[in-house]
Amino acid sequence: MRFPPLATTMVGSWPRPDALLRAQSRKRKGELSRAEFEKLADEAVLDALKRQERAGLDLVTDGEQRRDNFYSFVAEKLSGVRMMTMLELLDHVEDKAGFEKILRTLDVPASSLSNPTCVGRIERREPLAVGELRFTKAHTSKPVKVPLPGPYLLTRAMWVKELARPHYASKEELSRDIVRVLRDEARELAAAGADFIQFDEPVLTEVVFAPKATRTFMCASLAERGDPKEELEFAVRLINEVTAGLKGPLTGVHVCRGNWSRDESTLRRGDYAPLAPDLERLNVDQLVLEYATERAGDVRPFGGKSLGLGVVNPRTDEVESPERIEASVRRALAHYPPDRLFLNPDCGFGTFSRSPMNSADVAERKLAAMVEAARRLRGQAG
Ligand SMILES: [Zn+2]
Repeated sequence: MRFPPLATTMVGSWPRPDALLRAQSRKRKGELSRAEFEKLADEAVLDALKRQERAGLDLVTDGEQRRDNFYSFVAEKLSGVRMMTMLELLDHVEDKAGFEKILRTLDVPASSLSNPTCVGRIERREPLAVGELRFTKAHTSKPVKVPLPGPYLLTRAMWVKELARPHYASKEELSRDIVRVLRDEARELAAAGADFIQFDEPVLTEVVFAPKATRTFMCASLAERGDPKEELEFAVRLINEVTAGLKGPLTGVHVCRGNWSRDESTLRRGDYAPLAPDLERLNVDQLVLEYATERAGDVRPFGGKSLGLGVVNPRTDEVESPERIEASVRRALAHYPPDRLFLNPDCGFGTFSRSPMNSADVAERKLAAMVEAARRLRGQAG
């Protein structure tokens, strides 16, 4: 698949319509069948596609409309994973005082959180996203990007040792099955015609930027993290095992500093320097990075990779002007030729279904501004 210079795309999620959110909670309570839910989700995907096409994107996603969030949706598709609330988890952990301390340092109320937790051997009962891709491809002529949770994120989220230990001797052993699941998935997505597969690894910024004592919602990082250097080493190895030998689609890794609040001061801060050597070792074509927020520092080259440049902030009402976006792209063009530079928002618009960061209307206008900036810059170049 060839993309135009300065190809425009999304990171992944789109705000869900209210009817879909209501359906999601009825499905959770067992009041709505999966088939009925999927019918409503089909409509929501069609609307998300229509809006991305109207905005003029070169590469679209299904808006993650069928997912409750960017990673826990896998609980429905895998055996050995159960969604558990923090209070349920508290019943199982040995170090209750320590766990309560973690809950107190979470940046959102623990009562509102569930975690996809390993409670058995991990197997793919059904594909994670192949159905999403097939539906999307049947309803658009545009190339399609499929976001998947990365292997490090899933390992960190699923490993609660008291519950996982009867099934896996260690976090490393669990990670081998997660890698296998994602490898199989990526190969099936490639065979089904995915144009871009993006692995989401926001937890990498938690490793380097979060204060040592805090735990964060975004990353579901209940598992104790080790030394940052070893954690990054582990993450790089897992991602490279997933993508090894994968042919066909463009591959990417998305990293951001959190997308759970409009209060930017609660999100993590720091430029890419401490992550750069590890990001450069990733066996993927593109890094999809936030840069619209000043918390992310200045654009830099990452040895030979293309860049998905974040040019609009998904968490603000103000729609960035094409002029402002053009100026950011020009700065990035100092490090990347136009065919190695994609434009995207900093993150999704609806990472967590129940707390979207924007309305569909503002999101669409932000995408349109991005497309207009790309159009002007291509005109000047050609
Ligand atoms: Zn993100």
